[in-house]
Amino acid sequence: MNASKSLGLAEDGPARAGTAAAAGLIDALREITACLARPEELLSYECDGLTLHSGRPLAVVLPRDKQEIARVVRACRRFGVPFVPRGAGTGLSGGATPTEGGVVIECSRLDRILAIDPQNRLAVVEPGVVNAALTQAVRPFGLFYAPDPSSQAACTIGGNVAENSGGPHTLKHGTTTQHVLALELVLPGGELVRLGSATGWPPGYDLVGAVVGSEGTLGIVCEVTVRLQPLPEATETLLAIFPDVVSACRAVGGIIRSGLVPAALEIVDRRTIEAVEASVYAAGLPRDAGAVLLVELDGPAVALPRQLERIRALCGGAGASRVDVARDAAERERFWRARRGAFGAMGRLAPDLYVHDAVVPRARLPEVLARVCEIADRHGLRLSNVFHAGDGNLHPNISFDRRDARELEHVIAAGREILEVCVEAGGVISGEHGIGAEKRDYVRMVFGDDDLEAMCRLRGAFDPEGVCNPGKVFPTTRFCVEANPKARGYDRVPL
Ligand SMILES: Cc1cc2nc3c(=O)[nH]c(=O)nc-3n(C[C@H](O)[C@H](O)[C@H](O)COP(=O)(O)OP(=O)(O)OC[C@H]3O[C@@H](n4cnc5c(N)ncnc54)[C@H](O)[C@@H]3O)c2cc1C
Repeated sequence: MNASKSLGLAEDGPARAGTAAAAGLIDALREITACLARPEELLSYECDGLTLHSGRPLAVVLPRDKQEIARVVRACRRFGVPFVPRGAGTGLSGGATPTEGGVVIECSRLDRILAIDPQNRLAVVEPGVVNAALTQAVRPFGLFYAPDPSSQAACTIGGNVAENSGGPHTLKHGTTTQHVLALELVLPGGELVRLGSATGWPPGYDLVGAVVGSEGTLGIVCEVTVRLQPLPEATETLLAIFPDVVSACRAVGGIIRSGLVPAALEIVDRRTIEAVEASVYAAGLPRDAGAVLLVELDGPAVALPRQLERIRALCGGAGASRVDVARDAAERERFWRARRGAFGAMGRLAPDLYVHDAVVPRARLPEVLARVCEIADRHGLRLSNVFHAGDGNLHPNISFDRRDARELEHVIAAGREILEVCVEAGGVISGEHGIGAEKRDYVRMVFGDDDLEAMCRLRGAFDPEGVCNPGKVFPTTRFCVEANPKARGYDRVPL
């Protein structure tokens, strides 16, 4: 069964193209580039990391360069078929889920690093470059690319740009938007445009800022100029052991209040520790800990010892029973393995994992987490928490089995309540995973009609007919032709 139906969400996008038109488009696509269209080839493209939503595309194309992307887009327009850009498919909000009967433009073969400019500390890359591969390539120049999603071994720069991705080191270094200087975009009409400037001082409207975080709805990113950072002179990593997650949150509040800006402040709770320690990511974390707080400091070597002692004292004051400092790079890597492997390890708990993503003011973390736990308990769900605590970016993770319809209902109901609690506390409904298909009907929790209308008009300036990744970001109930054509005087989506 189509999972979006089981969630009571509207079906995505327009009806499938007619059979003859579909065959004509597939022939046209095959003339341009590699194209998958057999059912068994399409199966793995039906969803991204959010398995609750899925859609069967007409075809998946694998272009090699921006000209091929532009030609694919023009062919889709000729046949009146919508298209969805895709990177590695690690997204967790259904952003790359295909429109039924649409074309998936998978960018992973555009994976070249086109230039590394150490003098100006920038690189020019194609969208399919894997995040971790970029840092690896620039390390010999004493540089790194700062945004580091925990999925960095797989996710692509194109996906990061579309989602304005963050990561553990966002706290000090900022999210993707702080690191993108210029972009090349294939517009939904098939034209190629350049936005921004490698100098970081573009004249006019900040259109790069508009595209970063636009979730693939404004066009297809086909080249990105990114800022690079110098590798820090020194790094220290601490692992503080707490009796419970609430006291670990208090330590985070104390650290932020002290004026220190660690590179990362990450919390892993007891249930996650249990799953990690039983998995290949085992890092020797104490299984009886209620939570661990991972703190990373970076900067000039001379500054770190004092900061380290202050963090140690602040953690102790908040109730840490022990604070370990990584003695070398291998131990640092071991601490991080537990954090980065957390989502993978949760595969041990249940067949499905729903990774929530919301942000609350850091001072409200303890009370919000307590309420999140209460919600999961009330619904009888298995909850674990591993999150970017320094940013107030929560990831309540619900392990479940979607074959159990009753459990699925509770997962959805609890998810909504969790978002409501976060918004009530002054937070927002997504920190880094985006709205996608997952939260399009929750955006009214944070935006009014006027906000949505303005956002719709911005989208319309790039994509007047709503053909590029339709059915995402905007609520299905009103606004935008694609969401409710009748409200706009059309019988159906005008493609
Ligand atoms: C284990 C795990 C850990 C994660 N940790 C983090 C984390 O710490 N921080 C974080 O921010 N996210 C995290 N994520 C979510 C995800 O990895 C990010 O959103 C990532 O940026 C998605 O990249 P991708 O290449 O997989 O994109 P996809 O999932 O393929 O696509 C994501 C969105 O980008 C659009 N898109 C893709 N390529 C292009 C393009 N070339 N042009 C225009 N639009 C495009 C798609 O249409 C879609 O809307 C995690 C995911 C997993 C599975």
